[in-house]
Amino acid sequence: MFSLYVHIPFCRERCPYCDFFLVTRSGFTERFFEALAVETASKAPLLKERQIGAIHFGGGTPSLVPVTCLAGWLTQIADLAEVTADTEITLEANPEDLDSARLDLLKDAGINRLSIGVQSFSGRKLRALGRAHSSDDAVRTVSEALARFPSVSIDLICGAEGESLAEWEGDLQAALRLRPQHVSVYMLAVEEKTRLWRDVQKGIRKLPGEEQQAGMYRQAMVLLSAAGYRHYEVSNYALEGHHSRYNLSCWRREPYLGFGPAAHSFLVQGACETRFSNAGSLLRYLDDSAGAVDSREVLTGSQRFDEEVFLSLRIRNPLSVGFLRKGDKLGLQHLMEVLYGLRDKGWIRVDGDKVTLTDEGFLFADLVAGELLSA
Ligand code: SF4
Repeated sequence: MFSLYVHIPFCRERCPYCDFFLVTRSGFTERFFEALAVETASKAPLLKERQIGAIHFGGGTPSLVPVTCLAGWLTQIADLAEVTADTEITLEANPEDLDSARLDLLKDAGINRLSIGVQSFSGRKLRALGRAHSSDDAVRTVSEALARFPSVSIDLICGAEGESLAEWEGDLQAALRLRPQHVSVYMLAVEEKTRLWRDVQKGIRKLPGEEQQAGMYRQAMVLLSAAGYRHYEVSNYALEGHHSRYNLSCWRREPYLGFGPAAHSFLVQGACETRFSNAGSLLRYLDDSAGAVDSREVLTGSQRFDEEVFLSLRIRNPLSVGFLRKGDKLGLQHLMEVLYGLRDKGWIRVDGDKVTLTDEGFLFADLVAGELLSA
């Protein structure tokens, strides 16, 4: 499957924990979409005769920009590539941007999947996270989106300052009452150089410890699985047929083309796999979006192997021992010792020749990948 990603780099304000590439000045929106059209035209040869499986508007906050701009870009893409009624078209959105009129406009523009940054249904927790919307906004927006769109995803964050297991369970129960088709669960991470990071360093803020966060993650697994959601990736749960096609395709190492500042792309031509990315500078993008690519790397065999191990574990795709041996540096006996060690911790299942993560292993996916890759 071939996908497209568009990075819309605007937010009203930067949330204290966020380290994404974005700006908080929306005065550039019109120029941004002009530059996006130029970049898209420059990539026309890469789009020719492509059937587009998924389009993902991410950011930043794509729900902040005029719907006419999104619709204009979708029209341009439909002229350059094959977009069908079956193409998944997702927009990441924040509850405070979505009233019923805007939801109708988004639907009319061709968006068929909304990914809503709910983060929590608790007013206290939303304030602790520094989010702009209220608990009522979150419930109203998700209900109205569900009444209009065939597939709605919500993001929830666990591990906010002062959060208890009971408050987290309240978030999960509120989500289950609304029953969106897809739920993403993230543990709050303290990314370097963010406001949250500085506050934690200074001791102004204290977050729940790792064990407490792990307990919240396990609680999400239990409640969401019991309610019929399939845990198909470390952070993602979906009702049957409602996984994110765009994200799953990236984790399966299928090709995608990115647009906008700081967007990444992955192309496969025969045996050659290339990753490239646009510069993370809005001004540079506005100035020369057709020349936005600033790094390009043809993957070596060893990089491809590392990616395959890391990404397969995340989506619980079985890895064969035979495949893992391709990367083993210290011999089969050492690899098997590593595998049995991980199995004894309860993190992986070894079934004949096949290795997969267990539910508990989802919590330690990066550690498991690290151990397998160093074997
Ligand atoms: S709305 Fe999302 S992208 Fe924007 S600052 Fe907050 S977390 Fe980051």
